[in-house]
Amino acid sequence: MDEPRHLSQLLERAAARRPDHPAVEDEQGRITTYAQLFRAADRLATRLSRWGVGRGDRVGLVLPKSPIAVSALHGILRAGAAYVPLDVSGPSSRGVGILADGGVKAAVVTPEWAERIQRNWPGPGPCPRLIVADEESDLIASEVTWDEVQDDTAPSPLAPPRLAGDLAYILYTSGSTGQPKGVMLSHANAFNFLDWCDQTLGPWNASDRFSSHAPFHFDLSVFDLFQSCRQASTLVLIGEALGRDPVRLGEFLTRSRISVWYSAPSILALLTQYSNRVEAVPSAPRLVLFAGEVFPIEPLRQLRRLWPHSAMWNLYGPTETNVCTAFRIPDTIADDRIAPFPIGSVCSPFRARVVDDSGQDVAEGALGELVIAGPGVMRGYFGRADLTASVFFRDRDGAAWYRTGDLVVDDGFGCFHFHGRRDRMIKKRGYRIELGEIETVFYRHEGVDRAAVIAKHDDSGVSVAAFIAMKPGCKGSIIAMKQHCARYLPAYMIPDTITFLSDLPTTSTDKVDYQGLKRLATSPA
Ligand code: AMP
Repeated sequence: MDEPRHLSQLLERAAARRPDHPAVEDEQGRITTYAQLFRAADRLATRLSRWGVGRGDRVGLVLPKSPIAVSALHGILRAGAAYVPLDVSGPSSRGVGILADGGVKAAVVTPEWAERIQRNWPGPGPCPRLIVADEESDLIASEVTWDEVQDDTAPSPLAPPRLAGDLAYILYTSGSTGQPKGVMLSHANAFNFLDWCDQTLGPWNASDRFSSHAPFHFDLSVFDLFQSCRQASTLVLIGEALGRDPVRLGEFLTRSRISVWYSAPSILALLTQYSNRVEAVPSAPRLVLFAGEVFPIEPLRQLRRLWPHSAMWNLYGPTETNVCTAFRIPDTIADDRIAPFPIGSVCSPFRARVVDDSGQDVAEGALGELVIAGPGVMRGYFGRADLTASVFFRDRDGAAWYRTGDLVVDDGFGCFHFHGRRDRMIKKRGYRIELGEIETVFYRHEGVDRAAVIAKHDDSGVSVAAFIAMKPGCKGSIIAMKQHCARYLPAYMIPDTITFLSDLPTTSTDKVDYQGLKRLATSPA
């Protein structure tokens, strides 16, 4: 049989190979087998197809992490459509705006989100058909429940053509102009990554248990969801609350016998910190992957001591490419090492270069922007041809290079060292934040005259500081301003501090003096 090139084939094969094997296990230890997962996905795909949802269409997914959410995402793929996952705890306006921007034809949602979508749908397209995953809810005519969809015994339609170049999912990330941008990834993009994982991180064990720590709207989840399915292994779901509680998480790791772990570094650092204080060390996964931000060396050294035998990797890559460079962490980390480890060498078959502003290679050992080409690079930003064009450039051979915005130095052996960003995007606990998006939200407040947001880096990590000058006659209130932010931004983007100034410092050209604000933010009160 040919190797699968469409993500929906992974579940099909896993269900045929190991129908009774646990496919998904939730926090309470409840199991969904591969046969059950496949059936649930097939029922959803049948309903979506009957509604005319198929190749090229988008379907929203706004559910807490659960076996239903996993089946829904597989069902959307099985129908030939692309899933658009959203943060279920995010603000209504942002979520509904994303679903409208993505032009979703249908969405699988909680009752609360069904109401939000129907009440606030902005158009121009019609409000999507909704499948509500809660039997308790009072339904409006245009909705059906998940259970109704599951109980429907209509025969499955013929599978749509499954082409590797088709859109598989759209992941929305923070956008500097205030509008989140939808990164379009195809099945081929996903398989480029999964193949690299097989070649580099495999072989896998039939008994492997993969953590699902990242939410489904983050690209780390692509590994958890599809690599576990490709091996017909078990995916162990970790919800938001457990995911950020290091004490419970440590116990959970041991109890749930997770063997393959993948997350941002920050939760691993916390886990290490708390493990020093409790008696039982969390059981070591055999493979530990982290990505999304720099892992500072001290907590990493402690993690290494805690789990000396795990294979550990620092993976790097923006959502636009998924993982594109990787570095294997050595078995021991010298006591006097102070620099973080590099992001490593390029993952085949990607190609990587370090260039200057005009796209010319910099001299060996010089600082430049990392640019990436190859089959894992995204198709573009959904509906934003202008923005897509601005992040790519073509070389003389016609190859399209994606500008990561990350500054790196090549050590001369093709191993890249990360030196921060060239723009105003930051990472906070693994979350990608465009400071410009937060500023745009402040400007939506009628009392704000000028607003500027900066990132502060210290021993405890990254925090976001906002400075605001109110219009004459308007009084600034920190509580009111945080409430205003919460209407438009997810919790992790709400600034940690808000300072009201009579005027913001400016440069000679009347631009906000960000350097001046940084000095202000770090000066003692
Ligand atoms: P995201 O699109 O959320 O995956 O964020 C991508 C950005 O996170 C990259 O462009 C980098 O700035 C940063 N990043 C990702 N992985 C790493 C890593 N291993 N080390 C340092 N920064 C990273």
